[in-house]
Amino acid sequence: MSSETLFSKIIRREIPATIVYEDDDVLAFKDIAPQAPVHVLFIPKNEIIPTLDDLQPSQAHLIGKLALAAAEYARREGFAQDGYRIVMNCREDAGQTVFHIHMHLLAGAPLGHFGT
Ligand code: IMP
Repeated sequence: MSSETLFSKIIRREIPATIVYEDDDVLAFKDIAPQAPVHVLFIPKNEIIPTLDDLQPSQAHLIGKLALAAAEYARREGFAQDGYRIVMNCREDAGQTVFHIHMHLLAGAPLGHFGT
């Protein structure tokens, strides 16, 4: 399943974003409305998967690539030892607003626990 999203435009550099990491499969950029001192979004560059619920077994490696890119970024930026949080929101009850699968990396301060 594939459809145009806001993040597709960021991948194509059609709208501005502060890009902080890129490799063949992954693009990462600062969230426009940060929820922590560090808030970066990691997205697959070559496939648009609307939600985690749409992920196919053949695409499972993409989630690992997002996670590895986030961990590499945390080490590079020097906060890996202090810690960080990875979040993926799936659909409305989780607050998903952009239907192009993405991994949030939150860091830079002690993060409160969360839930309802
Ligand atoms: P979601 O709520 O998990 O779907 O996360 C979508 C995220 O995209 C939110 O945290 C938004 O602040 C962020 N966002 C929306 N538009 C932009 C943009 O143009 N640049 C960077 N981040 C964006």
